Amino acid sequence: MNSFPSSGTCWEELKQRLTDMRKRDVDWRRGKAALLVYYAGDDVLAVARDAYSMFITENALAPAAFPSLAAMERDLIEGALDLFHAPPEASGSFTSGGTESIVLAVKAARDWHAQRKKLNGPAEIVIPRTAHPAFDKAGQLLGVRTVRVPTGGDYRADPGELAAALTDRTIMLVVSAPAFPYGVIDPVPEVANLARNRDVWLHVDACIGGYLAPFAKKLGYDIPDFDFSVPGVRSISADLHKYGYAAKGASLILYSHREFHRFQSTEFADWPKGKYFTPTLAGTRPGGAIAAAWAVVNYLGESGYLARTSRVMQTWRKYLAGVAAIPELFVIGSPHLAILSYASEVIDIFCAADRLATKGWYMSRLSEPRAIHQMVNIAHESSVNEYLEDLADAVKQSRNLPAQRARREVVTY
Ligand SMILES: *Cc1c(COP(=O)(O)O)cnc(C)c1O
Repeated sequence: MNSFPSSGTCWEELKQRLTDMRKRDVDWRRGKAALLVYYAGDDVLAVARDAYSMFITENALAPAAFPSLAAMERDLIEGALDLFHAPPEASGSFTSGGTESIVLAVKAARDWHAQRKKLNGPAEIVIPRTAHPAFDKAGQLLGVRTVRVPTGGDYRADPGELAAALTDRTIMLVVSAPAFPYGVIDPVPEVANLARNRDVWLHVDACIGGYLAPFAKKLGYDIPDFDFSVPGVRSISADLHKYGYAAKGASLILYSHREFHRFQSTEFADWPKGKYFTPTLAGTRPGGAIAAAWAVVNYLGESGYLARTSRVMQTWRKYLAGVAAIPELFVIGSPHLAILSYASEVIDIFCAADRLATKGWYMSRLSEPRAIHQMVNIAHESSVNEYLEDLADAVKQSRNLPAQRARREVVTY
């Protein structure tokens, strides 16, 4: 184990050490990362970096001390509410990421329901099998049971299955736009009808799709309705640090009415320093993440997002066409945007994934069914052809190997 550094080291040497340490990291600039990174160009990175540096010390815990940060958050929230067709009473918060946004939505739903009626047992949220594990994390933290139900044959949430799982303890229904594993958008209007009929909160997890789906729709892609224009949608999570292209540590949680938003916060006064009110989970909040998100959203604007979304969607279509051209492979379901997962009935797809990994591709896998998962960003424009060539080769190499039936654990992010 290393001991605590006994004396300081000059920055030049530390910088060299940092550069050395990152040598084994995935080469996302060359499109080698199947997920985790959302690159939109060096110009966007420069804007995010400069804005982050300007506010690196400021703390959004106290809006009164830093009205600049409060104004930036307000701009981001109001812009997103406009993008998602929210009613005038809507509101929201800036958070550190999708997980925090989701934990807060579940807390708000739990406490909103709690002030209306006493539940006979633990509160439950009913979520499709494809929903992100952040909902289970929220459940574990908040004492709420998550009930996962099967999707339909098209891998989208099945309103019938969701309806069958509702009980008098259900406080929330969840749908995704799109779901992380397959890139399909759940049937939000149908589930919203169910939520309204049963007076249950509906959360739309647009963590990945929030800053992609509205622009893809404007570009003419077939994107089903998923936002506040659908009556019954009460909260939406949308990550600025994914296809919003902000620096990491930036997401929004939005509510159709500030009356719902109110239940998200916590307050405590019984200690020597008086009332401590925080609207989100964090205490201290990084000014840099807010400034970077604000700068990037304003740097790009709708025209910038449309242009980038168009490039992402065109590259995504290249992956789809390339996979379709390999007879051993098939794409799972009908993904709507930026994500594809593909599998095989004749070769062991994980064997192909292993071969791609030896060529430096950082792979993402699914366990149900065993499949390769790919999220597309602009860094893939220059690597998609090389990837597809390596994939064709990996499939060829895997052809004569017996398909492995042994279950391998898939680690997900
Ligand atoms: C990324 C993601 C999350 C979790 O967000 P983090 O920013 O990783 O905490 C939740 N839901 C979906 C659909 C996501 O893509």
